[in-house]
Amino acid sequence: MHTPVSLLAFGPEETNEGIHSDAKQDNTACDVDLAPVTFKTLDALRKDASSCRLCALADTRTQVVFGVGDAQSDLLFVGEAPGQEEDVQGEPFVGRAGQLLDRILHAIGMDREHVYMMNSIKCRPPNNRDPRPDEVQACKLWFEQQLDIIQPKMICLLGRVAAQTVLNTDETLGALRGRWHDYQGIPVWVTYHPAYLLRSPRQKQKSWQDMMQLKLRFQALHQAD
Ligand code: URA
Repeated sequence: MHTPVSLLAFGPEETNEGIHSDAKQDNTACDVDLAPVTFKTLDALRKDASSCRLCALADTRTQVVFGVGDAQSDLLFVGEAPGQEEDVQGEPFVGRAGQLLDRILHAIGMDREHVYMMNSIKCRPPNNRDPRPDEVQACKLWFEQQLDIIQPKMICLLGRVAAQTVLNTDETLGALRGRWHDYQGIPVWVTYHPAYLLRSPRQKQKSWQDMMQLKLRFQALHQAD
């Protein structure tokens, strides 16, 4: 199988069948006694988060970058933190790295409309430095509530910072790739950040292998439903 390594392409063109799931089951019709208690909608959470001042990044951000995509999706992608473009537009992964992520998704038959994307923290660190532990800790309030509402069945962590932050580990990306992890009962897969792939396009081959594994497990998840 052809595995491209150019900057402009990702994955074989023929691999483009859709793999996103049908919408999640509608629980609204179930017996009143069994109905889940929902404390907050995603929109309400977004509104609360938009005025967050829990850490000093509130002083330097343009806006909070909450998340984007299909909140009913079973698959959640988590990046590191908003960059300059995301800070301006208020949406995750809209810069060059985001464009590559779109191509990566396309190569495995997905698109950003059928997954959900967010970052491990919601505000841009100045000069794109790594988020600090106190910023990550403060932002967990939003991260965990958002996860509770979306209830993904699989999470893909993009890059070292997201992986170390979410999995609460200092293992390297190399050590974390290639095996499944667990976050609060949800299977977690770790792969390269698209910004890293822009700098190191030779790694696209390994990234492609990672994404195929992700796709296979995602398909198996739905075959088991
Ligand atoms: N890099 C990230 O980790 N997240 C974004 O939203 C954009 C770039």
